[in-house]
Amino acid sequence: MRALVVAMLATAAQAADLPAPELSGPWTQGAAVTGRVAPGSQVWFKGRELRVSPEGRFVFGLSRDEPPEAELRLKAPGGAEQVLRYAVQPREYPIQRIDGLPQAMVTPPAEALKRIELDNQRVAAARASDTARPDFASGYEWPVVGRISGVYGSQRILNGEPRQPHFGVDIAAPAGTPVKAAGGGVVRLARADLYYTGGTVILDHGHGMTSTYLHLSKLHVQEGQEVAKGQLIGEVGATGRATGPHLCFRMNWFDTRLDAQLLVGPMPELGKAAP
Ligand SMILES: [Zn+2]
Repeated sequence: MRALVVAMLATAAQAADLPAPELSGPWTQGAAVTGRVAPGSQVWFKGRELRVSPEGRFVFGLSRDEPPEAELRLKAPGGAEQVLRYAVQPREYPIQRIDGLPQAMVTPPAEALKRIELDNQRVAAARASDTARPDFASGYEWPVVGRISGVYGSQRILNGEPRQPHFGVDIAAPAGTPVKAAGGGVVRLARADLYYTGGTVILDHGHGMTSTYLHLSKLHVQEGQEVAKGQLIGEVGATGRATGPHLCFRMNWFDTRLDAQLLVGPMPELGKAAP
């Protein structure tokens, strides 16, 4: 199921010497795939060169609407190249209708457009971080334990108007519930008042992997601060465009939106989780 076609650009003799890359992560729309190659190798995903750690580790993400075939190109330290093509599992996404939102949050008033544009620039800059931090390969955990009230990829209809899909996982929890870092990293954005997302934190886990926490009532971190996995970063709230207290938790690989649920695994049962 995994490698559809293995096309060798190198001569057969060179290619036979190339070790296959170790890859883990489902080949599914919205997934992150981590891998390992011989140190000193170069790796390209869909033509983009990936950062490879000194140990040979790398990561890339598959988008919500990733085409059915993805291409990985590898260049070994000795110069031999191989191209690997993988089948990407398509998904079906639900339609989610949300009514009763203040109309200004569905169609923003003209005077809010400048502010929204500035918010977007700040968020884009945070998500463009490309650092050598190794945290991306250490796994992630749920920032809040609770009932999942919204899922990745759903097509949203707000007050009857179709809008962009939902890219987060919503976790219903009372206001003030502690929100913990899904992984170790550095705080790239910590702002209390973004127009749509209210109290917002973005953590950089390295190699383009970021996690985002929205609608927070309180922030407990500042931009530039290092955090450990599980560290308190804020509190659940209903700030920005939210109909009630919940955490909207998102994972991204640069500007590719990922399904955070695929990265953190099953939600622990309430009450059984570590506090
Ligand atoms: Zn959400």
